[in-house]
Amino acid sequence: MNCYDCLTLQETNAAVAVCTRCGAGLCLEHAHVAPQIVHETAGVGRSTHSPDARRLTCGVCHEAEV
Ligand SMILES: [Zn+2]
Ligand SMILES: [Zn+2]
Repeated sequence: MNCYDCLTLQETNAAVAVCTRCGAGLCLEHAHVAPQIVHETAGVGRSTHSPDARRLTCGVCHEAEV
């Protein structure tokens, strides 16, 4: 699989990740890494895990979520 964002720029780079939102292949340059807080509803009190989970999105989805 090739990076989708690179292909739109007439470039070809191997994808090293996949956007969790749209499923587009992403090279390292185009992958946006953001921590995702994992919520859990079990019991009372502490409700988040640590460390945060990792979440990868493409440039388009990253912008759309801001
Ligand atoms: Zn790329
Ligand atoms: Zn995306």
